[in-house]
Amino acid sequence: MLKTNKNRIVILGAGESGVGSAILAKSKNFEVFVSDNGSISQKYKDLLINNDIDWEEGGHTEIFILNADLIIKSPGIPENVPIIKKIVDKKIKIISEIEFAGSYTNAKMICVTGSNGKTTTTLMIYHLLKKAGLNVGVAGNVGKSFALQVAQNSFNYYVVELSSFQLDGMYEFKPDVAIIMNITPDHLNRYDNVFQNYVNSKFRITQNLTPNDYLIYCSDDEVVTNGLNKRNINTNKLPFSLSNKDENGAYVENNNIIINMTNNNFIMSIQDLALQGKHNTYNSMAAGLTGKVLKIRKEIIRESLADFQGVEHRLEPVIKVHGIEFINDSKATNVNSTWYALETMTKPIVWIVGGIDKGNDYSILTDLVKSKVKAIVCLGVDNKKIHKAFSEFAETIVDTSSVEEAVSAAYYLAEKGEVVLLSPACASFDLFDNYEDRGRKFKNSVRDL
Ligand code: ADP
Repeated sequence: MLKTNKNRIVILGAGESGVGSAILAKSKNFEVFVSDNGSISQKYKDLLINNDIDWEEGGHTEIFILNADLIIKSPGIPENVPIIKKIVDKKIKIISEIEFAGSYTNAKMICVTGSNGKTTTTLMIYHLLKKAGLNVGVAGNVGKSFALQVAQNSFNYYVVELSSFQLDGMYEFKPDVAIIMNITPDHLNRYDNVFQNYVNSKFRITQNLTPNDYLIYCSDDEVVTNGLNKRNINTNKLPFSLSNKDENGAYVENNNIIINMTNNNFIMSIQDLALQGKHNTYNSMAAGLTGKVLKIRKEIIRESLADFQGVEHRLEPVIKVHGIEFINDSKATNVNSTWYALETMTKPIVWIVGGIDKGNDYSILTDLVKSKVKAIVCLGVDNKKIHKAFSEFAETIVDTSSVEEAVSAAYYLAEKGEVVLLSPACASFDLFDNYEDRGRKFKNSVRDL
């Protein structure tokens, strides 16, 4: 139960998390007001109206906000907007949806953070827990709002994807199993361009762990291991790695993943994993370790890792046209995820890249581009940085400014037995609504070839 005897809750942002929080707060008899600076979609307006919740859109009316006892802020709203500054000046506590809703459930919480792989791993674990017959919900950045589910369901387990923005609004919330996939630079514009601030934000997932809980983490990632060494986290630590053999943890040996816990080994061939590529081996190890922590039977873990259906826009095979394979990795919005995409490919690549650069350092891709990329198709308003980074290494670089143009250019450049990979390493907002829009338009264009 939330430790407050105060009663007015104002929710900023009327998206999935905000509206879910509003419904939960209302059901707990708080006085609730929802304010959105932009326009609220009809679906959410209907939900607010049906639940008798007051709301406004197209701006924030201060007198209705600064009288709150507690603010629940959507993770999308940056800290530096005027209304947040005023709330901070008035010393009103600001928390995230997860912090709020977490105080109203006793379910076991499995929480996944990291720069890349969160959604995939979250859904893989959800799949595993469902297969094991557990009463489980999935929440966070994926699916329905956590708060809404807490209001309407009675799950015994939740698998929750946590972004750094959600973690920033978390203070007392405690996962039972916390997972850190990796930490590489991303979203630095929200962290004063200081990487350490972003790292600290990710580590908030560990802040309340106890000796009864678990921390599953990638021990190949130096940012993660350095962060752990600096902090005194008194919990059960379970590393996963492509090489380091830990007594308790997961690793790869002779093309098998091995999950070692209290001398009880689980072995599975990498070939049998549903999702291929090194990054997905990490994701599968994290999911497998979670399964072991929850004492799920080995056969169920094996089946789940083998039959998990990948997630749309993440190295998603589209179709083959005249022997050319098309792959949609629109969710690769930073250089690190594109590194794994290029790394995973086994055929010559025509690579579609570009969009809004978030301060990318393309140099980590140089070797892969040299060895695997046959041609580069830039898809963005400003492609100068991509030309500068790769013109020396790629035989062909062309500019395009629509997905149709990019797909036909790539189709023209690719030959039978090759692959056209959309893995932009950039955000999508210059030409698209979001990465889903970009991925869907890519798939439609490919299907129209
Ligand atoms: P997130 O939710 O953290 O953004 P996703 O699972 O949506 O992660 O994947 C985002 C992108 O990163 C996709 O392009 C995907 O192929 C790639 N990816 C998935 N898992 C990993 C990983 N463990 N490390 C690096 N990249 C990954």
